[in-house]
Amino acid sequence: MKKESFPHTSPCGSMSEVSDVETSLNWDHIGLKVGLEIHQQLKTERKLFCNCRNTLVEEGPEVIFERRLRPTRSELGEVDVAAYFEWKKGRIYEYHAPLLASCLVEADEEPPHSMNQEAIEIALGVALAMDSKPVDEIHVMRKIVIDGSNTTGFQRTALVSIGGGLEIKGKKYRIQTICVEEDAARKGEEKDERISYVLDRLGIPLIEISTAPDINSPEEAIEVASWIGTLLRMTGKVRRGIGTIRQDLNVSIAGGEKVEIKGVQELEILPKAVSFEAMRQKKLLELKEELYRRGLKKDDIVFSPIDVTLILKSSKSKVVERNLSKTKGKAYAILLRNFKDLLGFELQPNRRFGTELADYARFYGDVKGLFHGDELPGYGITEEEVRKIYDSLGGDIEKDNFILIIDEEEKALKSLKAAIERIKAAFDGVPKETRSILPDGTSKFMRPQPGAARMYPETDIPPIPISDEMLKRAFSLKPPTPGEKKRFYEEALGLNPSLAEQLIGSEQQEMFERLHSRLKGKVDPTTIASLLLVHMVSMKREGIPVDNLNEEQIYESLVLLSEGKITKEGLPELIKLLSERPNAKPIDIAKSSGLLTMGEKEVRDIVKKIISENAKVIEERGERSKSLLMGLIMKELRGKAPGSLVAKLVEEELKSFIQHRS
Ligand SMILES: [Zn+2]
Repeated sequence: MKKESFPHTSPCGSMSEVSDVETSLNWDHIGLKVGLEIHQQLKTERKLFCNCRNTLVEEGPEVIFERRLRPTRSELGEVDVAAYFEWKKGRIYEYHAPLLASCLVEADEEPPHSMNQEAIEIALGVALAMDSKPVDEIHVMRKIVIDGSNTTGFQRTALVSIGGGLEIKGKKYRIQTICVEEDAARKGEEKDERISYVLDRLGIPLIEISTAPDINSPEEAIEVASWIGTLLRMTGKVRRGIGTIRQDLNVSIAGGEKVEIKGVQELEILPKAVSFEAMRQKKLLELKEELYRRGLKKDDIVFSPIDVTLILKSSKSKVVERNLSKTKGKAYAILLRNFKDLLGFELQPNRRFGTELADYARFYGDVKGLFHGDELPGYGITEEEVRKIYDSLGGDIEKDNFILIIDEEEKALKSLKAAIERIKAAFDGVPKETRSILPDGTSKFMRPQPGAARMYPETDIPPIPISDEMLKRAFSLKPPTPGEKKRFYEEALGLNPSLAEQLIGSEQQEMFERLHSRLKGKVDPTTIASLLLVHMVSMKREGIPVDNLNEEQIYESLVLLSEGKITKEGLPELIKLLSERPNAKPIDIAKSSGLLTMGEKEVRDIVKKIISENAKVIEERGERSKSLLMGLIMKELRGKAPGSLVAKLVEEELKSFIQHRS
């Protein structure tokens, strides 16, 4: 375990511990502001700029080709910094182009076709549902992409509407823009300089919805994201499943910076991502204060690498040995005076200030990592070797610190320079950067934030005016808001408020809609909703494999109910049995397990039999023996006849029995 406080200068522990920050942060107090960027794949027939099918393919013929990307100059003549550094690493991109879902457009051998109208209209429909104002004319822009995920080196994007908003629990959240853009290629293997991508996903239309930074807590972040996600699904025009919706967020706290975090795929990670980033910024502000408290100055931090190769030459450390054996393998260290414990300072769970430096070193110098004094001895580097490094740097092991990189000379020096720049930035607090999400909700440095140079017009596609015709079609695609839909479920379909609430945005909502429309007037909507949301959910919790069921089996079971062939009580039982026999016919299972209801004649026979067996009681009690008889008969029938039918027959048979007796 590394220390998180600074014992040398703050004995009273004025700096908070990482572990308690997550639970104790007061979001209002630290001035948390979050904006979301939601990307959702649209379920159009075709891709955005060509006629390829909008689908992913796992098999089938494919063409493989290679590219090296070059950073493009914007019209202003500037080169994107991030693009430049990625390019310097000399990556080779290997593209797999499945013939079933890609063509010359994805391969960048043919100009893009005109933009898919259906995608624009779906986006306009969503815009209308959020009172976002459509633009007069769609202009396609190119946004530089540096990781090879687009064969062109840029992503095409188009603004569709501006402004608008949504309301949750009485609070308003503004929408900034709604865009349509093309999805990137799917990443495959990564091996050394070679990265492979599959082109089936490239060009699938995405809608991008950006909110203003009106979100002030991790809980609000998940509420807004689910609201928008639900609205999008309500169009019935979005792709479903893992990877079809992705969230980027920008997070800042008072005194911090707007930091972008990319690639959140699961909604559950969202609140963590927000609170971990807020925590990181708070920690960086504490670090800044500590630097000044120690009397350190930005100008004291200088790039002054010392060659310590000789000290580590005979090191037993595997990683040191491996890196020094490279051609021109060298070890360089830089002394950081009065920096003891600052590099081991934790910013997020298991991520320290030293980890941030290592991320910068990787990005700018393409090295594997960086060592620092707070984590050594370690990794096979001995105490003796550490002491010698301090000596050769002229440092004090008790007070000072150092960073160390072992790699090809040029890379090592370039990375150290980047790490030094990052340390300097710590004197200003939080650097403006783009980070990528990690599975536990923490994040790592991805690249500096793109400047204005990143966007320029796409000259291959003429502007598309938004016509009245398009707006008319968009209006018919406009989804109801989650609130409107809930009201519809309650008022028109008679669902109770809690069932309606549960249904909105659930995985079962679409299936409910389909089943309801097929069974309209035959099965009560509440019966369908409770089967899907109450019975089947609790069966799943008990470990019954309800996911095995297909929709047709559920539909046929509901038909049996509507025809009176099974009872309401028998329905969950039938579903349970079916889930254990995939592909079986509901009628067969109902028959073989005795769930089929009896015909009226059979039930009448049983009613008559029970009445004659209880003739004595009936003679004594007359009509009042009805409830006793009902109980006996229902017990005998064991759910094979609906109670209403039994009651009717008891009524009739009892009357005739009494008449005959008197
Ligand atoms: Zn294509």
